[in-house]
Amino acid sequence: MKRVTVPFFISHQGCPHTCIFCDQRAISGANGTLPTAGQITAKIDLWRSTAGKHPLEIAFFGGTFTALPEKIQAALLAPLQPLLESGTIDSVRISTRPDCIDVGRVEWLSGKGVRTIELGVQSMDDTVLTASGRGHSAAESHAAISCVKSLGLRAGAQLMPGLPGDTPLSSLSSLEQVITAGADFIRIYPTVVLQETELARRYTAGDFTPLSLDRGVSLCKLLLQRAMQAGIPVIRIGLQADEGLNAESVLAGCWHPALGQLVRSQLYADLISRFVTPGQHVTVYCHPARLSDVVGVKRGGLQSQAERGVRMRVAPDAALTREELKVETEGSSIIYSIINDIHYSIHEV
Ligand code: SF4
Repeated sequence: MKRVTVPFFISHQGCPHTCIFCDQRAISGANGTLPTAGQITAKIDLWRSTAGKHPLEIAFFGGTFTALPEKIQAALLAPLQPLLESGTIDSVRISTRPDCIDVGRVEWLSGKGVRTIELGVQSMDDTVLTASGRGHSAAESHAAISCVKSLGLRAGAQLMPGLPGDTPLSSLSSLEQVITAGADFIRIYPTVVLQETELARRYTAGDFTPLSLDRGVSLCKLLLQRAMQAGIPVIRIGLQADEGLNAESVLAGCWHPALGQLVRSQLYADLISRFVTPGQHVTVYCHPARLSDVVGVKRGGLQSQAERGVRMRVAPDAALTREELKVETEGSSIIYSIINDIHYSIHEV
């Protein structure tokens, strides 16, 4: 049964660093304070009452959990212990920097019910990491993923294509390297230039050119397809739109409130364009959960086919996987997959 995640944003807390792109307050929408034990249990009670039988996972996002003083880490995890014992909650997830992970810390967290650790890898290219002021190396990220995995926890890797010095090729290489290192899942956050960051200053001075939305979508679809080919879930593409992150706080870069949908829609659109020729009338069937992706943001998927002279109807078919499309024309019905039936070259991005 699908887990429901109860999020707590511990914005910038514990972080020993200021990466040039980071404004944790804007990213998380939180005010930079830590929740009290009472606030934690109250929020869990509320979510428990609406989550039905779904297991609850408690997640501390933002900041650098394992760099917080141990006393504070213990205080955040303490109210969860009786809830774990009683089965009210199922597990705990934290996020942190790769250079703030070691065997002792992971063992301690594991003993407190932490089952998943998300690592802000961002890139596996040391030149990019240095240019972005990350303060850790690709080797440390590799070691952190291995450490988490070797102690039986799930490791997530966050990647940021489009950082200073990054290229589509190094983004793809970063993805391949975190998969090789053993990441269980990935988040892709194309770089955005947030107001009042060092990156904003460089952008304004003309020293940094971020990925445009179009290029970011092209790159993300390639990364997503590569992750799918490797069987590794990409659980999020693009920073979440919320009170703190919006058209005003984002100065430039690849940001859209429905970026993940734009990327998936482009994969389906490319697949249809490859196999359906202009002038055809087709019915395209997809998994019910993918209907809105095939139709596209603001019906863009339908529109782009109409511009090619294709008349397309979209319908659900629960027998298909989420990656498949069944294209039905007069006299033929063929199933294609966005995983294997389209071929991208990184040089096109
Ligand atoms: S390590 Fe994370 S929280 Fe700290 S400045 Fe960098 S991105 Fe922000």
